[in-house]
Amino acid sequence: MNAEAQEAQETHAAAKSATPTYCGQCGGPIDEGTHEPCAARLELEPPRYCGQCARRMVVQVLPGGWIAHCSRHGSVSDHQSHPPRVTRTSDM
Ligand SMILES: [Zn+2]
Ligand SMILES: [Zn+2]
Repeated sequence: MNAEAQEAQETHAAAKSATPTYCGQCGGPIDEGTHEPCAARLELEPPRYCGQCARRMVVQVLPGGWIAHCSRHGSVSDHQSHPPRVTRTSDM
């Protein structure tokens, strides 16, 4: 019997720098309604909507993570060891 202590990965030490305006799961405003079910789903699934503009994002599921791409705000990837990186296009 392996007494393997499962470390809970719920510890999100690194808080996101910017609080999203919109819910990534349902696309609704964060301030309105209850998004607790959404937040629970977002821990398992990648977001579908951009947190800053509520656009639908193109989500790519990778082995061990995902990348969600907003046509306006660039890509956001789920790398827990790295801060959420927003790729800015050199488009002015
Ligand atoms: Zn929601
Ligand atoms: Zn966006």
